[in-house]
Amino acid sequence: MSESNPIALSTPQRRFSLQANVAWGGRVVTVGGDAPVRVQSMTNTDTVDAIGTAIQVKELAAAGSELVRITVNTPEAAQAVPYIREQLDRMGVDTPLIGDFHFNGHRLLSDYPDCAKALSKYRINPGNVGKGDKRDRQFGQMVEAAIRWNKAIRIGVNWGSLDPELLASLMDENSRRTKPWDAKPVMYEALVTSALESAERAAEMGLPRNQIILSCKVSGVQDLIAVYRELGRRCAYPLHLGLTEAGMGAKGTVASAAALAVLLQEGIGDTIRVSLTPAPGEARSQEVVVASELLQSLGLRAFVPSVTACPGCGRTTSTTFQELTQQIDDFLRAKMPVWREQYPGVEALKVAVMGCIVNGPGESKHADIGISLPGTGEAPAAPVFIDGEKRMTLRGDAIASEFQVIVENYIQQRFGAIAPSSNP
Ligand code: SF4
Repeated sequence: MSESNPIALSTPQRRFSLQANVAWGGRVVTVGGDAPVRVQSMTNTDTVDAIGTAIQVKELAAAGSELVRITVNTPEAAQAVPYIREQLDRMGVDTPLIGDFHFNGHRLLSDYPDCAKALSKYRINPGNVGKGDKRDRQFGQMVEAAIRWNKAIRIGVNWGSLDPELLASLMDENSRRTKPWDAKPVMYEALVTSALESAERAAEMGLPRNQIILSCKVSGVQDLIAVYRELGRRCAYPLHLGLTEAGMGAKGTVASAAALAVLLQEGIGDTIRVSLTPAPGEARSQEVVVASELLQSLGLRAFVPSVTACPGCGRTTSTTFQELTQQIDDFLRAKMPVWREQYPGVEALKVAVMGCIVNGPGESKHADIGISLPGTGEAPAAPVFIDGEKRMTLRGDAIASEFQVIVENYIQQRFGAIAPSSNP
């Protein structure tokens, strides 16, 4: 063995940031400071459809989204917001709602005070608040609404809608340099400057600095990393991370994970959103699943029991192994909304589903509960390991349902004893 230092985990050191409160009723979701990195999502329903939007918010919240953003783009949408909130309150969903405003947010927030009150945070895009002298006035009106109703704001810069006047002025400034920068760094600088100057303006107007969250979203992985490193270095505001227009399926998932993982590992990022384009028929909540899996994989949060599964290979005999993995994963996710309350700590549970004897028993022993299915040529038996010990062997066609019962019993015994309601 080496005489040098032992191999150590490189645990992310969170960047210092102020802590914002995004609140609704008795629920306060803290963002930044020492709060856990939060998961956000956004609806894709027409906000005017208050019932449809409330149902989707409920689904996103059930999947683990701690904050949900909705589009507020028309007077009709602004009028629907209090009804959406009311509907959610009736369903017992206290997840704070964020209003996403562009172009006319200043008018909507002034003309529809019930909308302004029902939202817990306003997203303001400084590139889309107005042109020329209207820009400062209209931005100011939105900040005034936040001050008046005691709401947080996110100054959300996006390179698809970057303030053209600011960009032009930075380009001019750059052309006067003895050695002008390339166009990309000027663009990065414009994104960061837009966010920081807008935050400064909001703070000068009287919005407490700890009610301001910043984001600078771009669609390229390396661009996002470069921009957020700089943004994180130059301010103490909490940062919302996300790769904008990430795309669909594997591309969107991998690109988002690649960019966000680098930043989170460096301690940058206080809330995240994974902007996936859903495949036709795919649930909107998939973006929440990916965001929470990302945080869980990095060891920053625990949301659902993790299922370790081997990829399968020529030793797996049938689809039983894939089906069992899928069933267990679905079962655990479906139960979590209830288990989260009933069994505190259950999200840290580790389950292993393995395809054969090569790594099956070993990996199963590392998990709290593991099953090693029979591979090609092995006896048709599936040993089950609990807390590292082989406890039983399952056989026959009902392995999946029997294993679910074993997992549920284990959870009851291990986590039920400390549930507040179990033994009054
Ligand atoms: S555990 Fe067995 S089935 Fe799974 S990948 Fe390894 S060798 Fe293949």
